[in-house]
Amino acid sequence: MSALLGLEIQELEQLLGPDHPRFRARQIYAALYRERHPDLMQVSTLPLALRRELAAGHAVGWPAVERRFDSTDGTRRYLLALADGKTVEAVWMPEEERQTVCISTQVGCPVDCKFCMTALLGLERNLTAGEIVGQVLAIAADNRLAVEGQRLNVVMMGQGEPLLNLANVLKATRILLDRAGCGLSPRRLTLSTAGIIPKIEELGREPVRPKLAISLNASTEEARRELMPITRKYHLKDLLEACRAYPLRPWERLTFEYVLLKGVNDSEADARRVVKLLANLNCKVNLIALNPGPEIPFETPDTERVLAFQQIVKRAVPCFIRKPRGRDVFAACGQLRKVSSPV
Ligand code: SAH
Repeated sequence: MSALLGLEIQELEQLLGPDHPRFRARQIYAALYRERHPDLMQVSTLPLALRRELAAGHAVGWPAVERRFDSTDGTRRYLLALADGKTVEAVWMPEEERQTVCISTQVGCPVDCKFCMTALLGLERNLTAGEIVGQVLAIAADNRLAVEGQRLNVVMMGQGEPLLNLANVLKATRILLDRAGCGLSPRRLTLSTAGIIPKIEELGREPVRPKLAISLNASTEEARRELMPITRKYHLKDLLEACRAYPLRPWERLTFEYVLLKGVNDSEADARRVVKLLANLNCKVNLIALNPGPEIPFETPDTERVLAFQQIVKRAVPCFIRKPRGRDVFAACGQLRKVSSPV
């Protein structure tokens, strides 16, 4: 059974072959992504014979909600089962003004950040474009999000390093942003990377792409190397150069994320160095106080420290503190590790 989710128009046309009128491909595309049908047998505008033909060899391919963990703050962490039995996590974060879905791009993660629980899983495999889009559809449906007119934000900040699965991430992006597809606003889709420099350059050349967020997490090359071993290959200096060269769209700016670790990278000197590093970049900074977890050898700084850090950075660039969401159910940044209950 192959999945229909993840196919673009031309691929659907090919799949149908010459025996069906071409508009059928568009109809199926709309049913999959705009109307968000989990089962094409229910789509009565398609001829029954075609529905049967499709169902014989293909599943739509939504991931199944294996478990859901509801936080006291409204956040929901989902353990989603894929066709091969593997699972990934995605997170639903409702707010007054908007809704955000955080999705995964790989099963596990190959980037070995020392403060992140997902790193402990290692990489199992890349997700397909259909599995990436499917997370958004399944979670929107589970939360009864209407199809049209919702202020839905999607962030690729769950398990995995999106730029190490770029082809599938880009294909999913085209479907998510296509008006005839999921119809998300390009301003509401963001990808976060640990800093895979050649892929940042590649991303910049794509006409249809998410906004870019970069996990900075340290103020010196040495400290970053300790916390994020990937920086041994992709140096901080070169990363910032790639950021300077990045072709931002007129409405766009870069986001830098900075995980604050008590006594490690949260000093005022660190904050001043961050300001220097980001000089001349059109950007904002999101501070994330460490979300703690078992086997993570760091502590969360006190609120006063976080605020003091913000004050310094704020003088130079817009700087926000990311509110922790769903820590009680291990749904917060860096806590996605497939544990079935809070430990
Ligand atoms: N691999 C990508 C996508 C993951 S995004 C990346 O590195 O950007 C997850 C964000 O959460 C990153 O900015 C990461 O630095 C941050 N993070 C990881 N572990 C964390 C933790 N324990 N507490 C707070 N933030 C964490």
